[in-house]
Amino acid sequence: MKNNPSDSQIWEQIKAELRNAISAQNFKTWIQPLQCAETRAGYLKLHASNRFVRQWIQTNYLAKIHTVAEEISGTSTVVEIEIGDTNGAQINQKNPEISTTPKRISEKPKVKRNTPDSNINSEYKFENFISGNSNQFASAAAMAVANNPATIYNPLFIYGGVGLGKTHLLNAIGNKIIADQADSTVCYYSSEKFTNELINAIRYGKMEEFRNKFRSIDVLLIDDVQFIAGKERTQEEFFHIFNSLYDSHKQIVVTSDKFPKEIPGLEERLRSRFEWGLIADIQAPDKETKQAILEAKAEKNNIILPEDVAEFLSSSVISNIRELEGYLVRIGAYASLTSTPITIEMAKEILEDIIVEYNQEITVEDIQKKVTSYFNIKISEIKSAKRTKKFVYPRQIAMYLCRQLTSYSYPEIGEYFGGKDHSTVIHAIKKIEAELETNTSLKQSIKNIRNTLLPS
Ligand code: ADP
Ligand code: MG
Repeated sequence: MKNNPSDSQIWEQIKAELRNAISAQNFKTWIQPLQCAETRAGYLKLHASNRFVRQWIQTNYLAKIHTVAEEISGTSTVVEIEIGDTNGAQINQKNPEISTTPKRISEKPKVKRNTPDSNINSEYKFENFISGNSNQFASAAAMAVANNPATIYNPLFIYGGVGLGKTHLLNAIGNKIIADQADSTVCYYSSEKFTNELINAIRYGKMEEFRNKFRSIDVLLIDDVQFIAGKERTQEEFFHIFNSLYDSHKQIVVTSDKFPKEIPGLEERLRSRFEWGLIADIQAPDKETKQAILEAKAEKNNIILPEDVAEFLSSSVISNIRELEGYLVRIGAYASLTSTPITIEMAKEILEDIIVEYNQEITVEDIQKKVTSYFNIKISEIKSAKRTKKFVYPRQIAMYLCRQLTSYSYPEIGEYFGGKDHSTVIHAIKKIEAELETNTSLKQSIKNIRNTLLPS
């Protein structure tokens, strides 16, 4: 194996580029420790210290390294990552089950493109989306749309909190349609990208081109549409694109962190269109769903995750799946770097800070504070006997949350609210529970308040 001086020079140049492109923390953790093992025209071999690191780099940075390598060398380049030390010795010989054949990114690009701009992430599929109570409705709706684009639910509007799988489902729809109908033009857009392209089109006088592009699309997937709210021109353009696609029976799928009515600054005409088709929500996952997702992710990343650790992680209050995955990776990295199996003690130790935080009890005062600030009233008012709706409603919501998030009894809760009778508390909670069955806006408000109380 060659290791001539120019090897490291080229790798140093690539690293310098990468340093600007990713966060300092990620650079230090993942890129800095990589060693250049070999370079020649159109070929770069890197060494990662272990299997876990190699896999992480392949999933998260290989495409980027590849692009930068090609930019610097000016020629198409194969980048390979092996497990080994700087002298090129292979250290994974003891693990015959692990393939040492590196992936060539030309064989498996992370982003599959069926048109120049499809932007679909090929990793996000229905096959690797775990369905549970919290997301069943949304995933069934997404599947129905993918199977019958522009026939049943148009538009499909998916909403839910951060990290609950909206982007995953949106891309899964795109991937399925591309797989089934190769000639369909599917386009995924984040709202930011849509806005940026629009701004550029305006700036460089290319509006006609911008509009034409959308006319040729069969399926338009717009992620995080809440970000176009408040932006007048973007909403205006999107409105026309929406109408033109809708009128020519093209599928539109939109995601958002909120129900259409709850998106501040969203134009009425867009809101009403979002409500034309089907609105499907994704709720925070229950323990079983979290566990199933964790187990699937562990398997995919070759992390051996014992059941009790999976259970421990999924019984935490974290509902953001991206965050849960982050903890899994952290534990996996630790186990891999120290060559020890994952145990519940290890998980507890690594996640100590987080768990301490979660063990902190939520108090009635916390709830009263958050609810009053949400509804912009005073704490004294929530405790008062005032019967106007402005105070009664937040009071009832606060009592409901106290029952949900603390272990106080009805009379004790009553005490905290200026000495109300326990029957008042029961009545309040029943009323909120009944209303939650039908009132999505209340559901969202309660979710928002809960999120401020529980660390996410
Ligand atoms: P959102 O767009 O709602 O913020 P994402 O779709 O980006 O969330 O999901 C965050 C991460 O969690 C992604 O890696 C995604 O693959 C994963 N994820 C979310 N829900 C599921 C699920 N039901 N099954 C498998 N992975 C999931
Ligand atoms: Mg998203």
